[in-house]
Amino acid sequence: MTTMKNLIETNNSPSLSSIATKIFKDVAAFSQDTDGISRPAFSKIETQTLEYLQSLCQEFGLTVKYDAGKNATISLPQHADATNFSLIGSHVDSVPMGGNFDGLAGVVAGILCLIQAKQKNIPFTHPVKVIALRGEESAWFGPCYIGSKCLLGVISDEELASKHKDDGQTLDTHMSNIGIDMTPIRNHQPLINTSSIIEFIELHIEQGPLLEEQNLPAAIVSAIRGNFRYKNIRCQGEAGHSGAVPKEYRKDPVMALADLLSNLDKKWQQILDNDDDLVLTSGVLTTNPEKHALSRIPDEVNFSLDIRSQNPKILSEMHQFLKTQIKKLEITRKVKFTLNQVNSNPPVKMNKKIVTGLSKAMKANQLKPITFASGGGHDSAVFAGKNIPTGMIFIRNQNGSHNPQEAMKINDLLVGTSIIFTYLTA
Ligand SMILES: [Zn+2]
Repeated sequence: MTTMKNLIETNNSPSLSSIATKIFKDVAAFSQDTDGISRPAFSKIETQTLEYLQSLCQEFGLTVKYDAGKNATISLPQHADATNFSLIGSHVDSVPMGGNFDGLAGVVAGILCLIQAKQKNIPFTHPVKVIALRGEESAWFGPCYIGSKCLLGVISDEELASKHKDDGQTLDTHMSNIGIDMTPIRNHQPLINTSSIIEFIELHIEQGPLLEEQNLPAAIVSAIRGNFRYKNIRCQGEAGHSGAVPKEYRKDPVMALADLLSNLDKKWQQILDNDDDLVLTSGVLTTNPEKHALSRIPDEVNFSLDIRSQNPKILSEMHQFLKTQIKKLEITRKVKFTLNQVNSNPPVKMNKKIVTGLSKAMKANQLKPITFASGGGHDSAVFAGKNIPTGMIFIRNQNGSHNPQEAMKINDLLVGTSIIFTYLTA
């Protein structure tokens, strides 16, 4: 493997493109899974990713520090102890068998900004720190934005008690196991002086198709959808012979779930017909594999619900609708629903001044400044929720996200990096 040191020595100053390409290639190599890549939240692979970035950044003469949540913060040496700074970054974990660019792209963009400032000796308007956050993806424990919630002291007790999808151990245990002192986190104390953060800027791959379809490399995010999510809802009925039990005697949880999803889908359409915003997904849906059979009426079905909107009123309306529907179906279908822990995150708007500043930076880079809302959630939502001025840049990405086919192009990453660099040095 060519080290950055070799590259620096042979080439004097390697291009940002070659640095970015090397980082994605090296990190993918040690986070490869049977399909795609897996960087679990609060795992050894996540730690390895941060240590890899640390040594690469140190080769470029940058300073790397860790906060009490063991997120890495990178800066020019003269800004390492700055008490007021712009914070740039994203997360390094991924979903199971996901793509290599979701999250990592934002960290790499921040690092490239620092390297460029150093190589070209261009000063930032304010000191800049780049943060490589842990644990953003909800796929591992249920709650999302864990690293940034811990950093800003807003993680809840319920979230810390949530269990890992594979081993059933709590988030709190997993965090302790990688050496994080949980005392301040359990006490909901911020791990950073929040008033020292002038602004938070995050670059992220777009997880939908808009930029690709419009043939644009980048856009500015105006808002981030909020959500409420149930990792597991159980619907229990009664097992029986699929041939012998007449309809009126059945307590079939799958039929109850079919009714529920159909009613939620109709309500979704009504909301869209009123020009309001909603998306709804039941991504996990299963009868018990140890018992289910072709000829058996199932006795239980377990499913997840992920409901998102830019409008907090629509989120609470949907939540109420869900509960009412469940009560009705318990009577008509003679089943019992058990709603386990709900995770919810409010929608947030990006800071107007930053949106204007990023628009100017896009124009300065000969780009058309377009703006749209983010369907997916991001660490930025936590910073904005803490009233820290927050902005986001989306970059074009092919084949969607949370899957191995994510296919961001390095050139588009460089366009996004250039927008942020222009903004930070304007
Ligand atoms: Zn992400």
